[in-house]
Amino acid sequence: MGEPFSPSSQYIGRFAPSPTGPLHFGSLITAVASYCEAKSQHGQWLVRIEDTDIPRIYPNSECHILDCLDAFEFEIDGDILFQKDRLDIYHQVIHTLQQQGLVYACQCTRKMLGSNAIYAGHCRHLNLGFANQAIRLKVEDQLICFHDQLQGLQCSNLQHDLGDFVLLRRDGIINYQLAVVVDDYLQGITHVVRGADLLDNTQRQIWLGQCLKYPQLNYMHLPLAMNEHGQKLSKQNMAEALDVKQAPQLLAHALSALGQPSIELNSPHLMLKQAVAAWDFKAIPQQLTLDAIYR
Ligand code: GLU
Ligand code: ZN
Repeated sequence: MGEPFSPSSQYIGRFAPSPTGPLHFGSLITAVASYCEAKSQHGQWLVRIEDTDIPRIYPNSECHILDCLDAFEFEIDGDILFQKDRLDIYHQVIHTLQQQGLVYACQCTRKMLGSNAIYAGHCRHLNLGFANQAIRLKVEDQLICFHDQLQGLQCSNLQHDLGDFVLLRRDGIINYQLAVVVDDYLQGITHVVRGADLLDNTQRQIWLGQCLKYPQLNYMHLPLAMNEHGQKLSKQNMAEALDVKQAPQLLAHALSALGQPSIELNSPHLMLKQAVAAWDFKAIPQQLTLDAIYR
């Protein structure tokens, strides 16, 4: 599996989009904020495409992501990593967890579990074989807390709030929680900047990281971009795909939504350089309001 990438700087951040739809303005906010945070601390900014959930991959969205990264002229450190090329690594980690008795096979179907969001551990002691079953990670009755740089102290008791959770689905798909934790570790990530829609995944990821003896990361969850109906901007809400021909304008809007000083339109490269120099995460507002055209 190899040793984690050994850092030459103290800060290694990343942008990790899933190709489940084209990038939209909310994704741009995440890209810009994670980029400026990393580069303003003379850190590195890595890009990872989170494409393990094959049935949810949206045609051509991977190309759109790569075109956008190009058009916005982000300086990416290292090669872009694709999770679909790394399935062996994730399976090896599951094997390690299995040897330590930290995971077990679960035969419950969605129908059996019903709408109950908390898994009560039905299969924990059944000792089922691993083939063709979902694999769950055991959680404990303990409070897991972290200090988010924007959202403050966040705590959750995974056993009460969620129960043992799935790392490998019955259909063979590696769950996002596993891939994200393993890759953040192997890429030497120190800081995660992402949307607040992922806030309540974080305790799961911290717990899994603890099980694997990985160092804990620093987290900053950005307020979500909302449309005029107060709905978060998302692929599900049909947020518009970023138009690469409008890169400077979109960049200016993203920076203004993030509460940063306004900058003149120029090449995206120069605009980003200026944005990094002026970057102040404390200016990010509690809620991101968007100009009508970019909803
Ligand atoms: N791939 C996830 C998404 O696009 C983000 C993962 C992360 O930043 O931790 O929602
Ligand atoms: Zn079960």
